[in-house]
Amino acid sequence: MASDSAAATVDGSALAGRALAAAGARHMFGVVGIPVTSLASRAAAAGVRFLAFRNEQSAGYAAAAYGFLTGTPGLLLTVSGPGCVHGLAGLSHATANAWPLLMVSGSCAQADAGRGDFQELDQIEATKPFSKLAVKATTIADIPRLVFQALAATVSGRPGGCYLDIPSDVLHQTLPESEAAALLAAAAADSTASASSPPKHKTLDGGIEKAADLLRRAERPLVVIGKGAAYARAEEALRKLVDTTGVPFLPTPMGKGVVPDAHPLSATAARSLAIGQCDVALVVGARLNWLLHFGEPPKWSKDVKFILVDVCEDEIELRKPHVGIVGDAKRVVELINKEIKDNPFCLSRSHPWVESITKKAKDNVLKMEAQLAKDVVPLNFLTPLRIIRDAILAEGSPAPVVVSEGANTMDVGRAVLVQNEPRTRLDAGTWGTMGVGLGYCIAAAVAEPERLVVAVEGDSGYGFSAMEVETLVRYQLPVVVIVFNNNGVYGGDRRSPDEITGPYKDDPAPTSFVPAAGYHKMMEAFGGKGYLVETPDELKSALSESFRARKPAVINVIIDPYAGSESGRMQHKN
Ligand code: ADP
Repeated sequence: MASDSAAATVDGSALAGRALAAAGARHMFGVVGIPVTSLASRAAAAGVRFLAFRNEQSAGYAAAAYGFLTGTPGLLLTVSGPGCVHGLAGLSHATANAWPLLMVSGSCAQADAGRGDFQELDQIEATKPFSKLAVKATTIADIPRLVFQALAATVSGRPGGCYLDIPSDVLHQTLPESEAAALLAAAAADSTASASSPPKHKTLDGGIEKAADLLRRAERPLVVIGKGAAYARAEEALRKLVDTTGVPFLPTPMGKGVVPDAHPLSATAARSLAIGQCDVALVVGARLNWLLHFGEPPKWSKDVKFILVDVCEDEIELRKPHVGIVGDAKRVVELINKEIKDNPFCLSRSHPWVESITKKAKDNVLKMEAQLAKDVVPLNFLTPLRIIRDAILAEGSPAPVVVSEGANTMDVGRAVLVQNEPRTRLDAGTWGTMGVGLGYCIAAAVAEPERLVVAVEGDSGYGFSAMEVETLVRYQLPVVVIVFNNNGVYGGDRRSPDEITGPYKDDPAPTSFVPAAGYHKMMEAFGGKGYLVETPDELKSALSESFRARKPAVINVIIDPYAGSESGRMQHKN
C-alpha cells in the first residue's frame, strides 16, 4: 500500500481530498473536468462523498443549502475559468444568505497565467467580491493549511462563502507521504488551537438585562424569528421564551418551523397587525432588510423599539436598534430566558395584545381555509397547495424538507404550507434567487437522509435547474418535485396591446413557455417516475404513490395560466 512505502508520494489532488476529510467535510457538490477530476475521486476515497452535478450553478446552490441545513460548510468543486464563473452563483448566494460555503476551484498552471491559457481567469479577483476569504495554494505544501483556514472562515462570525484556488500545477505536484501526513497533522493542530469557542455574546450596555426588561414592560411585544436563528439551532431556547412569556412570534420565511407554525402564539396569519402595532420587537437572526420592510413605517410603527440579536456586529451598527446584542442566537436567547426566569412574566391568552393577534390570525386562517376547501378545476394555486400541504402533514415526523421557488408558487405556498420543524423550508432567500430548486433538493436529501424532500416549483423556477433530475435518478434520492405548470413566467400573456407591436410582435411573449410542456417526461427519460396531473384526485394519487416510493419523481401539475399574477406579490418592484 502507498502509505506503507517509504518512497510513496501524494499529489495535490489527493492531499486536498485528505485535508477536506480531515477537516470534517462529509459531502462535496460540483462538476468535474480539467484539472479537478482526480480531486473529486480522491476526496471520495478519503470519505467525502462527491455529488456530481450537471451544472456548477446548481451544485453551488446545493452547497449553500447544505451549509444552512447542517451548520457546517457546504463544499463546491468547480473547474477553472467558466466553471468558476458558474460557481459564483452559489458562492454569492451563500454569502447573501449568511450560509457557510467553501468553493474550491482548479485554475490554470501558474507558469501559463497571463498568456491566454486554457480556461484562464484571475479567479481570486473574480471571487473576492462574494467571499469572506479568497486564497490560492501556490505550492502543494500550502494545501492542508489553506483548506483548514478557509473552512474555518466560512463559519466564523457571520457565516458566508470562502474561496480556495488550486492551480493545476499544484494539483500535480507531489510530496513524500511522510511529509503530507506531517502537514495534515500540523494544519489540524493549528486549527484546533485557533478554533474560536462558540461565538460569545457581546452585550452592548447590559443588553440581556435591557432586552428582558423591555419585553417585560412592553404592551405589545413580538418575537421575530429569522433564518439566522434556524441556522443557530435556537429552536429550544425560542420555544421556551415564547411558552414562558406568552409573547406572540413571527417567523420569516426560512425562520418558519423554529417554533412550530401550529403553535397558538404564531402571528404568521396576522403579520400586518403584528408588525404594524408591536411596541417592542425582539428580532433574532434576521436582518431588517426588504423582507422585513427595513423596520420602518408604514409597515412598522415609528415608535417600535427593536432589540436585535445578531452574530454580526456590523449588522447591529447598521440598523442602530434600541438594544443590540452581538452573539450566537441560541446562547443569547438562553441568557434572556435565564434573566426572565429570575423575574418571570407571562401574557395570558386574554391579554388584549395576544387576543387581538390570535383573533386576527384565526379570522384570516378561516378565510383562507374557505378558499382552500374548494376544488377548483382547471387547477389554481390554492387547490393543489392544499392537497400538497395535507399530504406533507400526513407524513408526520421527521417532517419532509420543503423546497419552494417561483413567484406565485412560492408566495402562495409560503402562506399555505406548514412548517412544524426547524430548517424544513428552503426558498429563494435574501436575494430572491430563482434556480435554487433542484440543487437544494439534492443537498437536503444527503444532509437529512431520514427526511423526504418535496419541491414545490413554479415551471420557470424549475427550468433553471431541471437537468438535475438526472442527478436525482443517478443517486436515487428520495425527492418529489412538483411543477406548477402555468405555461410561463407568471403564467399567461398579460401584455397590454401597446406592448404587442413592432417587428417581433408575433414572437412568443417574453413570459411564455411551450404550453402544457411535458416536464414529467424529462424525469421518465432518465428512468425516474413522472406524473401528469390535471385534477385534485390525480394529484392526490400521484402524491400518495410518490411519497410512499421515496424515489425520484416529477409531478407535472397543469395550472390555469391566468390563476396567478405578474411578479407574484412583488408587483410594486417590477
Ligand atoms: P431572514 O431572511 O430570515 O430575515 P436574514 O438572512 O436577513 O434572515 O438574517 C440572518 C441573520 O442571522 C444575519 O444577519 C446573520 O448575521 C445572522 N446570524 C447568522 N448566524 C447567526 C447565529 N449563530 N446567531 C445569531 N445570528 C446569526
